[in-house]
Amino acid sequence: MTKKSFTIAVLEGDGIGPEITREAVKVLKAVEQKSGVVFELKYAPFGGQAYFDTGASFPEETKALCDAADAILKGPIGLSHEQSKKIPVEEQPERGGLLPLRRRYMTYANFRPVYLPPELAHFSPLKPRVIEGGIDIMMVRELVGGLYFGGKEQGVNAQGRRYVKESLDYDEDQIARIMHVAFKEARKRKKVLHNVHKSNVLMSSVLWNEILEEIAPEYPDVEVRHVIVDAAATLLCLKPTQFDVMVMENMFGDILSDLGGGLLGSLGLMPSACIGEQKSYYEPSHGSAPDIANQGIANPYSMIGSVALMLEKSFGMDEEAKAIWAAIRDVFGAGYTTPDLGDPEGGQHVIETSAFGDRVAGAVLGA
Ligand code: NAD
Repeated sequence: MTKKSFTIAVLEGDGIGPEITREAVKVLKAVEQKSGVVFELKYAPFGGQAYFDTGASFPEETKALCDAADAILKGPIGLSHEQSKKIPVEEQPERGGLLPLRRRYMTYANFRPVYLPPELAHFSPLKPRVIEGGIDIMMVRELVGGLYFGGKEQGVNAQGRRYVKESLDYDEDQIARIMHVAFKEARKRKKVLHNVHKSNVLMSSVLWNEILEEIAPEYPDVEVRHVIVDAAATLLCLKPTQFDVMVMENMFGDILSDLGGGLLGSLGLMPSACIGEQKSYYEPSHGSAPDIANQGIANPYSMIGSVALMLEKSFGMDEEAKAIWAAIRDVFGAGYTTPDLGDPEGGQHVIETSAFGDRVAGAVLGA
């Protein structure tokens, strides 16, 4: 039986974070009303604004609240280049907030759906013949290893020149656990797994591929196809429909998933789930978009989709998650969109962030 009450730590974040979180919460409230399941929302500061207000990007009170929550819903964080300079390097939002959050809960498996159903294919900048049938890729990114989490050192060398050194670390257990996640995901879908690597240059990719070869026999029904990361970037643009599940290390996933947003037509169409053994958090794949903050024009799909992923993956509320996806499709299908996807010749109704959220929440209630 589904639990009847869940506590969610809500970290609104910076830039467009609070705007798109408001819309996601509207949709959560609609699910609450429909399902009778209670969501207790606990708001807490996180990110650049949190640093300005409290002196820490990930304040102690926020950690306590996240520790106690069933799941975490996180808006994007980050400041403009100019604003960032006002914060010591170590406390800047990603280094002081995001990476410690990922490390605290060891959220090693990052699911980034790159999804555009055929009826929304016109949003993509790619030619219709290239994305016939729509785009439906699941990028599985390792999230707590590699270059972003390796040792860092900087200083002045013997020649008096400034230097920096960052290491790309993985051990076999870290690789094995993300491989199992990816194989299981492939098994649920088309049973094809694209392994993205750079073993022609990086030793980390050589070990990555070795571990994959060892694990693959446990999934004989899944076909593995290897692709070098740079070629993957090209192929995603030329023929994205050849991909289904893709697995990759941390930095490759960061970059290729933003490319995924480009294929869809907007980063606003990129939700994500960051799964750990004990706790998971959900966030848009994109950043805080300071260039469009407080204008009512951000696309809240990424945050609303993250709510749907949370319902499915943390709360076992599959039907409610499906209802949210269906509601979003209904709203787009009726011709409504936010400005990032609006095509002046496309005949769509371009609406603001809050109107989009109202419509999705309304469609969930009306379903
Ligand atoms: P970004 O992802 O914030 O924005 C890139 C482009 O996409 C911008 O033009 C922006 O307007 C647009 N965009 C993003 N989300 C959108 C949405 N929902 N609707 C419509 N348009 C959208 O990348 P950036 O500008 O390079 O980074 C801004 C800040 O975000 C930086 O401080 C960066 O460090 C941070 N960042 C945070 C995260 C995170 O919290 N996980 C991820 C990436 C970047």
